[in-house]
Amino acid sequence: MPTVDNQTEYKAPTLSPRELIETFPEAIPVIKRNLKIARHDLPIAEKISSILLDYALQKIYSLDIPDDYKEEVFIPFAKWYFYDSVIGPLKKKISNFEQLILISKIKNAGLEGQPLDIAKAKSYPIESLIKVKSSGFALCPFHNDRHESLKIYNKDNRFNCFVCNANGDTIDLVMKIYSLDFKNAIKFLNK
Ligand SMILES: [Zn+2]
Repeated sequence: MPTVDNQTEYKAPTLSPRELIETFPEAIPVIKRNLKIARHDLPIAEKISSILLDYALQKIYSLDIPDDYKEEVFIPFAKWYFYDSVIGPLKKKISNFEQLILISKIKNAGLEGQPLDIAKAKSYPIESLIKVKSSGFALCPFHNDRHESLKIYNKDNRFNCFVCNANGDTIDLVMKIYSLDFKNAIKFLNK
């Protein structure tokens, strides 16, 4: 029998979203199709998960165990098991697909000839760059975020993540979301 040698384990190269799209442009129609499917599946998955969670919560409430134990252990676990662990990855998948499609559009549009106006780039409304909920929070692109942890401050046009501590302005956000370098992020924001 062949043995597995940990030393020679194959490690796939890590590509940024931009490198991925530029290396495999033929993937774009596949990504678009998968995005359509995922968007179609999300409300169905949310509905099923809600039904299962409601059922689990009813069961938990009827258990003969102390209330604080239910609140601290059983209910958070049920919420994660029946809802977040299913819906979180699906939402993440949709936002990854959306990001890849946006990057492919930016690539096609081209950034050559755009001005390098830093002040103008920094004043580009940050809320129009990322999907912000009414609470003022968005899914953080700097870590594997399942709940919206990225606070958007419209007044200062900046962001701050309460989980991974990423913070910055529109240029930092565009660099991350679209895998652009500093100069191209400014050009993008000046378009
Ligand atoms: Zn974060």
